[in-house]
Amino acid sequence: MSTVRLRVSGNRVAFLEKPRSYAVFSLSARKYWASYCDMAAAVDLTTSRTNVSLGEKYSQIRACIGIHPWRANMFTPETEKALVQLAKTGKVTAISETGIDVMRRRSDDFRTELEPLPLEVQLEAFRAQVRAAVKNNLFLVLHDRGASEEIMKVFEEFKEYPLRGIIHGFLGSVAEARQYRDKGFLISVNKRNLPAVNPVLETLTLNEIVLETDSNEPAQVADTCDMVASLKGVTKAEVAEATTENLKKLLESCV
Ligand SMILES: [Zn+2]
Repeated sequence: MSTVRLRVSGNRVAFLEKPRSYAVFSLSARKYWASYCDMAAAVDLTTSRTNVSLGEKYSQIRACIGIHPWRANMFTPETEKALVQLAKTGKVTAISETGIDVMRRRSDDFRTELEPLPLEVQLEAFRAQVRAAVKNNLFLVLHDRGASEEIMKVFEEFKEYPLRGIIHGFLGSVAEARQYRDKGFLISVNKRNLPAVNPVLETLTLNEIVLETDSNEPAQVADTCDMVASLKGVTKAEVAEATTENLKKLLESCV
């Protein structure tokens, strides 16, 4: 895994959500420093295609493809075919982002808050993307806002497959976190969801979380690491080591 930090502002301005990097800590003796795994998240077919080109060009970038739940109304059978085609290039790591959001939606320019898309529309796009993930050995990065029950129902339809992935910016309950963990998902912590995720962190072990930025400032993962360490009453190095290992295992499961 590369230790080089690369900014990809060209593509990222098109994202509905903030760019996201996952922490990869390098440990030496009792010191650690943060480097990053840039997983370029997609929101639609255009950003999915751009990510695959970026992944081909830069080894630091893990290309992700997907149709964000805020854009699930763009999803058609042709979209599914196009995503599967991209997955078959062998350059894709994960379906990111997919999921369900029953709380809100942002307009394409990010300025206006809209009503969420109808659940049926979101479910159809989500189901198709889970199918693409299992068929192409990709993991899932999920956006869940108030929808864990619906997401679990879809997981049930795929119970014969080993689903795995990350619940990004997790904001659910302790019970929901446990359900996701039992399904093979890591709970992702960033500076912004940390206050909400506190009770969840108390019940999860370090083997069950990853650290992400969900912001333009990758250095924030080091702060998040510090905060998780003090909350768990362990050293920063322990948090760094465990969360790095969790992410590596997930990435290796796709090779
Ligand atoms: Zn999201």
